[in-house]
Amino acid sequence: MLKVSNVTKYYGDVKAVDDLSFEVEKGEIFGLLGVNGAGKTTTFRMIMNLISPSSGTILFNGKKIDYNVTDKIGFLTEERSLLTKLTVKEQMLFYGALKSLDEKTVLKRLDELLKRFEIEEYKERKISTLSKGNQQKVQFISAIINEPKLLILDEPFSGLDPLNIELFKNVILELKEKGTSIIFSSHRMDHVELFCEKLAILVKGKTVLKGYLKDIKEDYKIKKIIIEGDVKKTDLKKINGVINVIKTALGYEVNIKDKTYVENVFEYIKTCKKINKFVLQEPSLEEIFVAKVGEAYGK
Ligand code: ATP
Repeated sequence: MLKVSNVTKYYGDVKAVDDLSFEVEKGEIFGLLGVNGAGKTTTFRMIMNLISPSSGTILFNGKKIDYNVTDKIGFLTEERSLLTKLTVKEQMLFYGALKSLDEKTVLKRLDELLKRFEIEEYKERKISTLSKGNQQKVQFISAIINEPKLLILDEPFSGLDPLNIELFKNVILELKEKGTSIIFSSHRMDHVELFCEKLAILVKGKTVLKGYLKDIKEDYKIKKIIIEGDVKKTDLKKINGVINVIKTALGYEVNIKDKTYVENVFEYIKTCKKINKFVLQEPSLEEIFVAKVGEAYGK
């Protein structure tokens, strides 16, 4: 289990991370979210022990992360760092050696992973000749060739097309099933929502929201009702508990203060001639993120 406790990091006068605490259990996926400059990469670098926290502790299975445990860790860095003059196989042998793996094991795993990522034909190709997406696959394979117990993924989906996002997502879920603890960062809330069970949202290094996705959604009071049919925007806006009404392609989206106000909207709907749709929806993570980040910036 990874335990980050009260970690703060200063770069000179800049407080990049402010009293951050979270835990990632075995086989759990944790999302670290935030806009640019929130402190995500700094946090990853501290977990990897590439830089030291100004205060606080980071422990993996009760121990500090150092050369004794890095063999058990995989890291996909934000600035992709492939040795582009090498072939895919050469790069993997180099990484494998850094992770104390023997050549036979690396080559066996490499063949399996190249097949899994549908790039078997590139094994002997120089990395510089691969497309950006395929280079990202090679980088991802480098991060997991040691079958890590802890996997850190800084923006793993950036630059990938939807089919490859799906492929990466499935591989990440397989690793989770095998018990790998996974932390990843992303700006894209829809990606986070796909498979992340626990998360923290950072704004300028500060944690503005943290917990299980399910609880976060339940605790977020504002709910949304989707209505299609013969209704009037002006009438909807007058209903007690309605925050705002947004016109959509097929009807209206009505935001209410909390779910106790659904009844008021329903009473009105009963007076309308024709209703095709009336659905109460949980807020999306994107909406919660925008609201929380907005609040933190005083908007
Ligand atoms: P992004 O999504 O843009 O990658 P991030 O959430 O990863 O952002 P960090 O790169 O961790 O954010 O940066 C957090 C803060 O620390 C920013 O204000 C940044 O300018 C500052 N910072 C990061 N690295 C350094 C450094 N080496 N020296 C000084 N300040 C730094």
